[in-house]
Amino acid sequence: MKIFNTLTRRKEEFVPITPGKVGIYVCGPTVYDFIHIGNARPQIVFDTLRRYLEHKGYEVNFVSNFTDVDDKIINRAIKEGVDASEISERFIAECKKDMETLNVRPATVHPQATKEIPDMIELVKILIDKGHAYEKNGTVYFRTRSFKDYGKLSHKNIDDLESGHRAEAHALKVSGEDEKEDPLDFVLWKPKKEGEPFWESPWSEGRPGWHLECSCMSKKYIGGTIDIHAGGEDLIFPHHENEIAQSEAANGTEFAHYWMHNGFLKINGDKMSKSLGNFFTVRDICQQCDPQVFRFFMLSAQYRTPLNFSKELVEDAAKGLERIVNGAEKLTDIIAKENGLPLSDKEKELLDTELPKYVKRFDDAMDDDLNTADAISVIFELIRFSNASTDTESSSAFAKALYDTLFELCDTVLGVHIERKKDDMAADDVAEIEKLIAERTAAKKAKDFATADAIRAKLLDMGIVIEDTREGVKWKKA
Ligand code: AMP
Ligand code: ZN
Repeated sequence: MKIFNTLTRRKEEFVPITPGKVGIYVCGPTVYDFIHIGNARPQIVFDTLRRYLEHKGYEVNFVSNFTDVDDKIINRAIKEGVDASEISERFIAECKKDMETLNVRPATVHPQATKEIPDMIELVKILIDKGHAYEKNGTVYFRTRSFKDYGKLSHKNIDDLESGHRAEAHALKVSGEDEKEDPLDFVLWKPKKEGEPFWESPWSEGRPGWHLECSCMSKKYIGGTIDIHAGGEDLIFPHHENEIAQSEAANGTEFAHYWMHNGFLKINGDKMSKSLGNFFTVRDICQQCDPQVFRFFMLSAQYRTPLNFSKELVEDAAKGLERIVNGAEKLTDIIAKENGLPLSDKEKELLDTELPKYVKRFDDAMDDDLNTADAISVIFELIRFSNASTDTESSSAFAKALYDTLFELCDTVLGVHIERKKDDMAADDVAEIEKLIAERTAAKKAKDFATADAIRAKLLDMGIVIEDTREGVKWKKA
């Protein structure tokens, strides 16, 4: 598999540190509110990466943190008059619900910053001992210029950064907060302010800086060098650059071999974000549309390209998924017949020579830096092939082989369900619909077309469309 590595700006062949195993760290959300659908993009695409690597036979250790100590969490806690931990625990639980709705599998470990403070303090001590960090009035800063590779991920030149910081440095001097040795230095540990959560440390009662948690938790749960580090492209600088500086300065080894960054989910050309106020929460969207359609929409673009969110594009995704679900349903109908027919010679040949071509092309697309857009096109072709090569004479065994392949690619790897949802209907409603359909079939048989049409219209009023097929009457929600 080839992965575009932000570090080298090239697509590179993926070679794991330990054969057969992959360690992935994905920076997770700051839990101060419901997550928005932009935050869901890294969750969905890197869950798909994990699923695909498992499909290829790797054992994946997937670590994704929750940032549960942060100014935004503290501000909300103050507003509500509750503890910061109440806010973070509430939104961790809500985020997990959203992930489940979107069929994002739980990580192998979901570490939380507040539960790893002693390890973070140890990391800061190491950095001070090695001369990469220093303390001033209870705050510990990373000495950025002491790390010679600073800027290698974001491809920024440290001297350009310096001039960018001049104005800021001036402002700090004026305000009397100019205690850093260099404006480029960043915070590893900061003292508490009145009313803020804090932990004891050798420097002050306070809390860790944001960048520190990922350096610490990735090492603890994966190792000093990890295979793949991922997140949204806004994290490249400064967050990931600072993680590299901290980890490589402390450990003396390369931090991550491959850096993957997803492009933005946009709305009217702007990045969707809380601060711009142009966002929808996952919770809202999943009440307006099927979460599976939303996941399918998210995968309709390769993860590095920007993706515009619009009602029309989600409707297109709904139509596309409907084609897949219809194709799968045709197969399950043949399977349900359990006709016991042996595979015909033609069917055998199709399974041996044609079907593997679709699987190979799907894998080729995914091997090309997780190109889910092309992989989905292959699934559409597989559906066309399946529809064209099955009919009432097909053996159930043949239909099952096609279904299993479709299930593996679409349901298992892309995480998009291929079975039609009839779930949220009460059993009584389903029984009523099926009773009306039986009455209509009887009316048609008796050539009472007026009654048959009236029943069809009644079903439509109930939000149910029916379709007469060779395999019998099918129904679905309008
Ligand atoms: P945050 O809680 O802001 O740290 O964001 C959590 C994750 O969501 C990070 O990986 C961000 O890069 C990512 N993210 C935030 N907004 C967007 C967006 N509009 N499109 C894609 N990813 C985003
Ligand atoms: Zn991080």
